[in-house]
Amino acid sequence: MIKGVLFDLDNTLVDFMRMKRLASEEAARAMMGAGADFGVDASTAGKRLFEHYLDHGIESDDAFLSFLGKYNQSRLSAGIAKQEAILAAGIQSYLRAKDVLLTPYPGVRRTLVELTRRGLKLGVVTDAPRLKGWQRLQALGIAEFFDVVITFHDSNVKKPDGRPFLMAVEGLGLRPFEVVMVGDWVEKDVQGARDAGLKTAWAQYGGRASGGDHGADATLQSIAELGGVLEQWKSA
Ligand SMILES: [Mg+2]
Repeated sequence: MIKGVLFDLDNTLVDFMRMKRLASEEAARAMMGAGADFGVDASTAGKRLFEHYLDHGIESDDAFLSFLGKYNQSRLSAGIAKQEAILAAGIQSYLRAKDVLLTPYPGVRRTLVELTRRGLKLGVVTDAPRLKGWQRLQALGIAEFFDVVITFHDSNVKKPDGRPFLMAVEGLGLRPFEVVMVGDWVEKDVQGARDAGLKTAWAQYGGRASGGDHGADATLQSIAELGGVLEQWKSA
């Protein structure tokens, strides 16, 4: 009997990569508007910035500075003030775009409401830093649904290590086999949670496809399918 549901955050509840990609394009455009010269058009510069983020660590705080140091061809001729203006334009534009683009996948809120009404306890298990994880939950407007949120700074280890999952299960006051973990990343979310004794549902819509058998108890094409899956398990 399933009594609790744990969710991964990025690319499970929020389409994080889409936000980063589009916000990177906006930022590249703004930096060029402020005088940066990347030697390519804004769209290509945006793609490069996005890739730079991926290489640099998706949570990186100095990605803009290192990106400008590497790609801005006007930096040697421009003074410090000009360089600061370019950096500021990029960061501001990025933050503005991010605020608009950070929305839950379709059906997330409805699903959380439905699960809560059924009496299920809900939680989040994410490798995101604590403050950034909470910022994203607040921006999505769904923080109040969760009885427990385990971030990297709560467990100090990343998935697929079993500890974050077990901390969340304990936080819900449940046992591992009473809880299902929903996540997009097979190696981290599905295999990690399964090894820790939880049931698993792979959020295939999150786009981190993996070859072969992923071993999940269910596969979701959309988060809205989760309610039906839990009903099926109940009657099985
Ligand atoms: Mg994820």
